Amino acid sequence: MPVKVAQEWFAICGGCEVTVLDVGEPLLDLLPELEFVHMPVIMDHKLFGQTGENKEADIPQADVGIITGGIRNEENKHLAELMRSRVNFLIAMGSCACFGGIPAMANQFALDDLYERVYRGNSTTDSGETPKGEVPALLDRVYAVDEVVKVDLKLPGCPTTPDMFAAAIMHLLKGTPFELSQKSVCDQCPTIREKKAVSTLKRPLEPVEGAGEPLNTVRCFMEQGFLCQGPATRAGCGGMEGGTPRCIKAYMPCRGCYGPLNDTANPMVDMMGALSTIGLDPAQIPDRAAQFNRFAGAKGRLRVTGRK
Ligand code: SF4
Ligand code: SF4
Ligand code: SF4
Repeated sequence: MPVKVAQEWFAICGGCEVTVLDVGEPLLDLLPELEFVHMPVIMDHKLFGQTGENKEADIPQADVGIITGGIRNEENKHLAELMRSRVNFLIAMGSCACFGGIPAMANQFALDDLYERVYRGNSTTDSGETPKGEVPALLDRVYAVDEVVKVDLKLPGCPTTPDMFAAAIMHLLKGTPFELSQKSVCDQCPTIREKKAVSTLKRPLEPVEGAGEPLNTVRCFMEQGFLCQGPATRAGCGGMEGGTPRCIKAYMPCRGCYGPLNDTANPMVDMMGALSTIGLDPAQIPDRAAQFNRFAGAKGRLRVTGRK
């Protein structure tokens, strides 16, 4: 009997759905074992019935549920609870689902300020009333999925890599536990470190010195002055075999998309410590909280600060 899978997307960009489609050849091995019963990105199965005939949304019973995206509005919350009641095992996939992701950067602003900016303060759209009733009401902030319902497995990343998704599903099918790496991005980075910055802070799009040369001959990007978030970010993006992290491979500093090293860590605090250790002054960074928690703003890491 194939394992039934139901998937729903909430506050997202759709990139994590592309990850599922990007699994490539391993997906061919997985597909005979899986039966997708609800997955808006690949199949026409509607929440309110195929012709909208039902008054209540429904998600079919399934063995495994996958949620992408954080919980931004009342509808997301209701569907997350519904999904939880319909599945035996729930996966939060992608950093939006695990930590709020980019949409949770809005957690720095009060709801009224957000409505004002979107419906009246935007130079590219006509001003209008805040919609009431036609669209689901926003919650007070963006929540990670596990702040709303019990989650059995979190797969971080913006997006989660296809091989991590495939490996997690393989483990589930075999009934063996799937563990995230306990290492940091730095632990899997081959650049040279001397624990001393060789430059003051640089802007992100300045070129990395040594780009194109073998990485084991290139100075650590943070020591070059870039805000590389490797010290405060969980490893895993380089592949299940522990390969070089994917941005580092492209000579780009890590932006922290795999999220904090553990549930209670705060990347801003960890990064301030890491920068100070090599002699860079974190006080020079005006937007530290948002800069270092841009993928992890749920769970109180980003809060309303009175900014507009
Ligand atoms: S985690 Fe990244 S790729 Fe996935 S839905 Fe969120 S923004 Fe998109
Ligand atoms: S700070 Fe960045 S470049 Fe330096 S070792 Fe860590 S991941 Fe590599
Ligand atoms: S290097 Fe950092 S930002 Fe890039 S994919 Fe890996 S965790 Fe994400």
